[in-house]
Amino acid sequence: MTFQLDSLKDILVCPQCRSKLIQDDSRLVCRDDSCRLAFEILENIPVMLVDEAKQLETEEWQTVIQKLDHPAEANGEA
Ligand SMILES: [Zn+2]
Repeated sequence: MTFQLDSLKDILVCPQCRSKLIQDDSRLVCRDDSCRLAFEILENIPVMLVDEAKQLETEEWQTVIQKLDHPAEANGEA
C-alpha cells in the first residue's frame, strides 16, 4: 500500500485510451468516462495491461472520480 502515484503520474497513462489515471487505494482508474478501466496495484506495481484490467460500471467510476478528483488540498495540476 506504499505505492505513490505522484512520482509516476506524469508518465503513466491508460494503455487503452492514453488518458490520465487516478489512484484509488490499490488500483489505478482511468479518467476517461467511456473507458473506465481499473488497473490493480499488486505488490506496489500497477498492472498496466488492458487484458488484466477491469472496466468499472459507470456509477462506480463516477464515485471514484468524484471522491478522488476533489481532494481537500490538492494543488498539483497546472
Ligand atoms: Zn482509459
